[in-house]
Amino acid sequence: MTAIIPIPAFADNYIWLLREAGKAAVVDPGDAAPVIAYLERERLELSCILNTHHHGDHVGGNRALLARWPVPVFGPAREVIPGVTRTLVEGDAFTLPDLGVVLSVLDVPGHTAGHIACFGPLDANPVVFCGDTLFTGGCGRLFEGTPSQMVDSLSKLSALPGDTAVFCGHEYTMANLRFAEAVEPGNVPLQRRRARDQAKRDCGEPTVPSTMAEERATNPFLRVDQPAVRAAAERHAGRPLADRVAVFAEVRAWKNAF
Ligand SMILES: [Zn+2]
Repeated sequence: MTAIIPIPAFADNYIWLLREAGKAAVVDPGDAAPVIAYLERERLELSCILNTHHHGDHVGGNRALLARWPVPVFGPAREVIPGVTRTLVEGDAFTLPDLGVVLSVLDVPGHTAGHIACFGPLDANPVVFCGDTLFTGGCGRLFEGTPSQMVDSLSKLSALPGDTAVFCGHEYTMANLRFAEAVEPGNVPLQRRRARDQAKRDCGEPTVPSTMAEERATNPFLRVDQPAVRAAAERHAGRPLADRVAVFAEVRAWKNAF
């Protein structure tokens, strides 16, 4: 059985560590120190690194980890990331060495221009590592992409099986769900989710991962085709919005100032 462990870093990042039988892979090690501390404490050897995009809080630990464990580094083909040995584009599949986990690649530009997401079964359970593209209850800011690109990227992720566990790069859930309720105050699954996730935070537990089914039911950025989300976006804009991309862009701009 492969276990996935959250390693908190900085204020609200999660570095995801996969471990099985003395070996480990890390996803988006923005900081090497907490990863090294965990590996030493648990007597694990690093087998590989996977990066979803080039931001420093996701790749900043690569060099220090590689100095100690010269392992393969998987990363997006369209971004420059320290130490990458295997570049990935949509349609690629690759195996995490020693762990035997096979992941497939989606191109999900928007947050950054070359951002990738990696999905596949972990034992029998589908998982996706989506970095800063899809967040639990929200989505990433558009630093390098257009609303149209981000809508396409989120649509690809949203099409994954409902039981896919969503492993994103930050603990932003409560702020995202507070905003989601401003957009859709009548969404009952959203209200239930917010109460459940607040209870987790009150106990100091991560709210990540969620499931894709839950995201489809409660995340406003995956719900731009819902009449209630469109109506809220048009009220906020003060004008009719032409299409789902315009609805998305309005909701994203609303969240930026929320
Ligand atoms: Zn980022």
